[in-house]
Amino acid sequence: MKLNGTSSNTPSILTESLNGKHHNGSSVDAVLAEEMGDAHAAASLETPLRDDAFDLDDDLKIDLIEEHFREIMQIMGLDLTDDSLKGTPRRVAKMYIKEAFSGLNPANKPSTTLFDNKYQYNQMLVEKDITVHTYCEHHFVPIIGKAHVAYISSGKVIGLSKLNRIVQYFSKRPQVQERLTMQIADELKKALNTEDVAVIIDAKHLCVSTRGVNDTASSTITSAYSGKFEDEATRQELLRYISVSTATI
Ligand SMILES: [Zn+2]
Repeated sequence: MKLNGTSSNTPSILTESLNGKHHNGSSVDAVLAEEMGDAHAAASLETPLRDDAFDLDDDLKIDLIEEHFREIMQIMGLDLTDDSLKGTPRRVAKMYIKEAFSGLNPANKPSTTLFDNKYQYNQMLVEKDITVHTYCEHHFVPIIGKAHVAYISSGKVIGLSKLNRIVQYFSKRPQVQERLTMQIADELKKALNTEDVAVIIDAKHLCVSTRGVNDTASSTITSAYSGKFEDEATRQELLRYISVSTATI
């Protein structure tokens, strides 16, 4: 497997196919177009939110989504008086607002307190295998994978769990994997006051594995390298750390 990152603003992307059937003569671009949807090319760093996105409070949003999801179930002919189904509209509405898409609201953004780099540690720090649970914004089904983030301290350091929380915050949105990668990298740069950051995400898209082409073998890798991580030797060092099997504790 070859990781193929370029610059910070244009994360590279490649689709890995373990059985070779996935591409089947078609180009990677064609596969990606199918995977990412037609809006892929227009995707930018910002999640497309309207200006009035937070005019309604969470409780009202839950009530409205519950109402509309009940309507969807009704249309599909499901019996909402059934014990097993009657709580579903509210359950889905709460899940959307409080869990799955809570990262849309800036109020839920994790605070990033920095500490002095007392030990003068000046090598890269890598937090690898961070769980990524996000949702494909084209199909609203999960994307599940791992993120690896790295930075080189500019004089300050960040609590390790904050790296996980930054990944989680941007994951809890309807996403495309490229934008998620860039948003995490951008936030790390701002929070750590350095350009020397790297983000790699390797994830399976359930819209690819459970429907459409039904390919359960492929995964998608995106990367954002900036600052010192654009240097080949630094990048290779990072990739070596990521490939080392995780210690068992
Ligand atoms: Zn999708």
